[in-house]
Order: sequence, then C-alpha cells, then structure tokens
Amino acid sequence: MTLMGRMMSEPLLISSLLKHAERHSGETEIVSKRVEGDLHRSNWREVARRSRQAAQAFARLGCAAGDRVGTLAWNGHRHLEIYYGSSGSGLVCHTINPRLFPEQIVWIANDAEDRILCFDATFLPLVEKIAPLLTSVQHFVLMTSRAHMPASSTIPKLLCFDDLLDAESGDYVWPVFDENTASSICYTSGTTGNPKGAVYSHRSTLLHAYAAALPDAMDCSSRDVILPVVPMFHVNAWGLPYSAAIVGCKLVLPGPHLDGKSLYELFEAEQVNFSAGVPTVWLGLLNYVKANGLKFSSFKRTVIGGSACPPAMMKSLQQDYGVEVIHAWGMTEMSPLGTLSKLTTRQLGLPPEAQQRLLEKQGRVIYGVDMAIIDDEGRSLPWDGQSAGNLVVRGHWVIAHYFKNDGSPLVSVDGEPGWFPTGDVATIDADGFMQITDRSKDVIKSGGEWISSIDLENIAMAHPAVHEAAVIAARHPKWDERPLLVVVKKPDASLTREELLAFYEGRIAKWQIPDDVVFVAELPHTATGKLQKLKLREQLKDHRLPTA
Ligand code: AMP
Repeated sequence: MTLMGRMMSEPLLISSLLKHAERHSGETEIVSKRVEGDLHRSNWREVARRSRQAAQAFARLGCAAGDRVGTLAWNGHRHLEIYYGSSGSGLVCHTINPRLFPEQIVWIANDAEDRILCFDATFLPLVEKIAPLLTSVQHFVLMTSRAHMPASSTIPKLLCFDDLLDAESGDYVWPVFDENTASSICYTSGTTGNPKGAVYSHRSTLLHAYAAALPDAMDCSSRDVILPVVPMFHVNAWGLPYSAAIVGCKLVLPGPHLDGKSLYELFEAEQVNFSAGVPTVWLGLLNYVKANGLKFSSFKRTVIGGSACPPAMMKSLQQDYGVEVIHAWGMTEMSPLGTLSKLTTRQLGLPPEAQQRLLEKQGRVIYGVDMAIIDDEGRSLPWDGQSAGNLVVRGHWVIAHYFKNDGSPLVSVDGEPGWFPTGDVATIDADGFMQITDRSKDVIKSGGEWISSIDLENIAMAHPAVHEAAVIAARHPKWDERPLLVVVKKPDASLTREELLAFYEGRIAKWQIPDDVVFVAELPHTATGKLQKLKLREQLKDHRLPTA
C-alpha cells in the first residue's frame, strides 16, 4: 500500500513571500524613482504594511475574490503594493501594457473585466480618453498622493491611491486559499488575432520565483541590489518582485526614467549590481556610458532576454565594462523564464571563442521546464545542434489554456499530449543549449514589444491602390526588428511609399507604423495560395531599412 509522506502541506501563496520579506528583511530598502520626479525610499516592512492597506482598500471598494485589479503603471513601490495587495487578498492583478494602442488597452481591460483600474499620473490623459469605453471598471485610482491629485478630471470620482491606503489600519490577516487560485493576468500580443491572457496562479508564481532565484538562473541573493528595467507590466518584471522577496534583497524601481543617463545615475547612486531587460534598453545605457567615458562601480551582471541579445552588445558589456551577460529566453505564456545561458564546468575549459558562441545561445532550461523540438508531424528531433524544429515546452509555470479560451493550445510530441507550442524555431545541442533560429508565429518584435503583421497588412489592404500586402520583420540595429511592408499595387494605380505610410497615421500606434515599403510585382505563394513569409523574408534579407 502507498505510504504517504508525513509532512506539513502549506499552500504556496504570494502573501507568504511578503510575510517572509517583512519578517526577515524588513529594513531592506525599496527605492523608487517616481513619476512625480522624486526618489522615494521605502523598505519591505513598509511595503508589506501598505500592501495590507491596499488589500483592505480594495475590499472596501467592493472587490471580492477573483475580481481583477487592472494597472497601467511603471515600476514603482505603489505598483509593488498593488501586486501584493491584490494577489495576496485573493484578487487578480492585471498588469496592462500602456505602450499599446488605446483601442487595444480598452479591449484588454474589457476582456479581463477589470473592476478597478489603478494608474500612474503619466497615463491620466490616456485614461481620461478611454474611461467611457471601459465597460467593467467601477473605480479609477490615480497612483499618487493627495498633493499630486489634479484639480479636476473628466473621470468621475477619481480616487487617490495614497488616500485610500491612509484610510485603512493595515491590520489585516492574509487569507489562506487554494494555491491554484489565479494571482495575476498578463496579455500577450505575440500571437495572431486578439491579444490573449496568460493567467498565472499563486503556485506557478511561487515555483517560478524559487527557480528564477537559483544560481544557474538569475542567481539572486540577499546581498543583491536589483534594478528591474523590464517593466512590471511585462510578465511581472520576469518575476523579480517575487524572487527579490524570497531572498530579501534591495529593489530599485526606475519608474518612467529609462533613458541611458537616468539609468546610469540610478545604478551608481543606489549601487545596483544586478539588472534585467530587453536588448534595446542596454543599447541606450551603453551609448551613454561610452559617449561620456564612464564606468560602472557596482553593476556586475544582467539578464538580457525578450529578443535575441546582439553578440556585440554582450561582448561590450562583458569586455569593456566587466558586466556578466546572462542571455535568457522565455515567454509571457511561461511566466516567463525558460532557458538561460550559463556555462557548465566542462564548458569553462573550452577556448574563449567556443565559450562565447555558447553564451550567445538562449541556453539551458531551468528545472521545472521541459523542452523539445519537433517537426511538422510532431516527431521529436535530435539534440545535435543542427536539426531545427518547432520549440515546445511544458512545466509548472507554462500555461495550459489562455484566459476565456476553451480550446487547448497544446500539442503532442511523439504522441504524448501536453506540450505548449512556443512559435519559435530552434536547435538544441547535446549539452541542452537551445538556440532560436527563426519564428513560425507571424509577429514582429521591436524593442521588446510585439507588432502584429496581420494588423499592418489589413490596414495596407484597406488602401484603394493596394492589391496585396505582406509585412515581415527586417533586422534593425537598435530595435532588433522593425516592420517592412511589401506591396503589390493594383494595375495602373499610382501610390508612393510616403502616401502609404501616411495612411497608417491614426490607424495604429505610431511606433508600430512600418519603417519602409517595398513595391513588388508579385508576392510568393504556396500552391494553396498561402503567402510564403519565409520565402519573402529570404528574398528581402539584404534590404536595408532607411532607419537602420
Ligand atoms: P513575450 O511573450 O512578449 O515575452 O515574447 C516571447 C517571445 O519573444 C519568444 O517566443 C521569442 O519569440 C522572443 N524571445 C524572447 N526571448 C528571446 C531571446 N533571448 N532570443 C530570441 N527571441 C526571444
């Protein structure tokens, strides 16, 4: 007969992270560069108290278990307090990407049925514009103090976050519930069609936070000073607000101040030694330190992911500035960490160029995630570093379903069901180092943000002079990828590049407008009439964007 273990079983809840950080690292600082312009100093004890007050305030506003609290906010202590206050009390923290086009934000907030919307002052004009279209939001909360509330606003009964908290005692006991309860939602537009919601659970978030803190992952410890450049609206800042609570380290939150100069000054002033972000932000920081002949006095390592890290950036950070670069790959659907590139003992004995080539790959999985590469028939391919196939994953922090979507996105590998198709194409070598070689999903990733090729194609097709349009990703030194529009004109129609680009104004966010247009006589199609994007990308691989 099976013998059961005789161990305690405590649900893995996000509130337990905060309780731990408060008790064991209460005085450890949380520093925030705020929208208001000041540098705010708090600590884990204070954040824990204000998170309990936030939980009480959300309840007073009528929120009940499972209700969604939306945020449009930068990295800052108030956002952190909403993270813990909402999830910890059984509500669901829904971080919305403010860089999306307003229509998309409205769509996402309505789809998630957000009951409260908390936002930084930066986004007041945006929220004033979209408020009448938000069908489920009952309370609008400006994340600021009374002194910074606007004299008037078109938003009826605009609430002040600090006032709401100050009205509560903070005398609150975190409830205990099933660890599989939803804790937060993040929508991704890195898929075809409408954005889709990844719904994380307390259990998945905690397991991810444990794993992310391990030495072969982000290597977090109580001695670290972590500055997540990656936004808290992007997959929970890659889980750093949770891993930081596990180890009880100092957190430095940069708010909207993400340019090279502001980041450098904050790194130095707060003695930041570890950071994480997409390649584009490091370019800004590197340019600034190079142009001004500066060095880092404390910055020692960074995780770079979200897009492929350019080898030149990796080398410069490592060789010129002594900053270890950990190249990482993951997805919104994976909470996000999947693989990180850290060398094994044997690999450390290889010649430097061989080590460098390995570090440029996306790396090995952390325990808790399993991966495979498969062909179009679902047969697994060998890990020989040569065979490229569709990358699929499974694990404790990988989604099984999208929010409100009954269909399963999962596929089978060699007949075994339960694998999530990432839409990335990769090789894996004998040591388990994965390298992304292509993407099968039809989207473009510019500076870490998604652009839907289909949306751009639909707009072009709406132009009366366009017969057919395709949008592909073209390489860009700053943004990694930028959209390139390829068009077949209608016979005898007259249309210039400038006219077509002007047609996008007001129809899509400015930063999503294609960088260039190429007019062609025809586009490549398959026998069944499907556009052959891979072939088109191959045909235009040497096209140089005017912005590059
Ligand atoms: P997101 O859900 O927005 O985090 O985007 C996830 C996708 O970004 C992945 O499926 C990849 O296509 C891409 N991606 C993330 N990290 C990397 C990386 N290190 N190298 C190349 N592509 C990456």
